[in-house]
Amino acid sequence: MIVHHGSIYTVDKNFAVQQAMAINDGKIIAVGSNDDILKMYEADEIKDLGGKTVYPGFIDAHAHIVEYGLNLQQVVLNGTQSWEECIERIRSFIKSKNIQPGEWIQGNGWDQNDWEIKNFPSKELLDANFPNNPVVLVRVDGHALIANEKAIRLGNIKPGQTVKGGSVETIDGKLTGIFIDVAQGLIWSIVPGTTNEKFTAALKEAQQNCFSVGLTTVQDCGLGKNTVDMIDSLQKKGVIKIKLNVLLSDDSANYAYYLKAGPYKTKLLNVNGFKLYADGALGSRGACLLQPYNDKPGWQGFLIKDRTYYEKMLPQIYNSKFQACTHAIGDSGNRMILQAYAAVLKNKNDRRWRIEHAQVIDKSDFGYFGQYSIIPSVQPTHATSDMYWAGDRLGAERIKGAYAYKQLLDQNGWIPLGTDFPVEDISPLKTFYAAVARMDSKGFPAGGFQMENALSRKEALMGMTIWAAKSAFEESEKGSLEPGKAADFIILDKDLMKCPENEVLKTKVAATFINGEKVFGK
Ligand SMILES: [Zn+2]
Repeated sequence: MIVHHGSIYTVDKNFAVQQAMAINDGKIIAVGSNDDILKMYEADEIKDLGGKTVYPGFIDAHAHIVEYGLNLQQVVLNGTQSWEECIERIRSFIKSKNIQPGEWIQGNGWDQNDWEIKNFPSKELLDANFPNNPVVLVRVDGHALIANEKAIRLGNIKPGQTVKGGSVETIDGKLTGIFIDVAQGLIWSIVPGTTNEKFTAALKEAQQNCFSVGLTTVQDCGLGKNTVDMIDSLQKKGVIKIKLNVLLSDDSANYAYYLKAGPYKTKLLNVNGFKLYADGALGSRGACLLQPYNDKPGWQGFLIKDRTYYEKMLPQIYNSKFQACTHAIGDSGNRMILQAYAAVLKNKNDRRWRIEHAQVIDKSDFGYFGQYSIIPSVQPTHATSDMYWAGDRLGAERIKGAYAYKQLLDQNGWIPLGTDFPVEDISPLKTFYAAVARMDSKGFPAGGFQMENALSRKEALMGMTIWAAKSAFEESEKGSLEPGKAADFIILDKDLMKCPENEVLKTKVAATFINGEKVFGK
């Protein structure tokens, strides 16, 4: 295949822009001027780009594609105005997914505080509308669920039943369907696990959405061997074509198997790291801070595990070929991991151990990243999602070291970007806009949030392509459009490097190619 008459951002080391590209057998064989490429090569397919721009396929360096796909198989109840609207959404879900009688229906995201009647709902409407399907719908915060009669019968749950650490709501001797906290386990114990069909449907739908926004590789942060094996077999069957990197979740089964077996790599799959956790999140005040929260005196959040745990696991990872990638949000969580990494890495190195999020960094700690070649793996949309309240949590001084992407980039001269979807939207264009403009889609705040930490367009594009590839040791095979690399590329209807800032989010992906094969677009 030849593509020509475009602006091809190769993202090579000179950041060269070319006009044409020749592809053979899934790989790029040449990039250059229209004349050179059209003269030098013959092709079955010759595609005139008509002046459109081409970029390397976007790579999301931190996301949860499996979870995202599974969520798509559930009814989304966020933003409903009433219980009746929830029923309506379930009805259209049944239609769109062709749900058969007897199949479980799962949903999430309802919040009665958004409704006119602010009491917990009860199951009568569910029973009247869906008598033949067990239904379970989780509240937005995960602390309560409602189940219908069909589900309750399957669980053989009785009115007035007591559960320590939870409650089975019973009014006038009747179950309302509401289960709170630990009592939710009575329902979860009877919900069937994900079937192969469900998993396949989930991953197919997720990959299609990814292709439509220009993603050709996604790094999934936190999976186990069973899931890895299912992905591998779907990719080998040709059902799943998106390229995936996997960080294994921090559990003993994964360590037992993979530390012995070593990294696993195919043409589409690369299992290359372990995902550990230092602390929680800033929004729920679970992030571990060096000083108390600005809006909760005396509270500093907490570390998930003792430092001794990391001191035990990190040397084992170091002695394998895996990367260590640790979630750290608070300045205390980050410091603990930076110091634990430093103790093992000892000096500059090329192990590319990562800190996921690296969200709040004390000013005296930035230097660790450069000194020990520790890679911050950041998600620019977190900055523009959190900016409304992050200052309340951190106070005016501490927030200056938060979402400090430019300062972090300067440490090693490169930085991978991601989204953390489904926590954020999947679109890499939102990442690009958040990194560069540091505003929300409405243009707030005017002038941008802490602009000293904005990235240039070039840096943002590199963070979503070549640096994201580098963060998983894949920069020699993808992330730029150069001879010998995979023909993973996208065609956009606007020039991201030149269009007015407020047009970035209106940019459309015209086509997405993986290994030279068109997986999205006309
Ligand atoms: Zn994540």
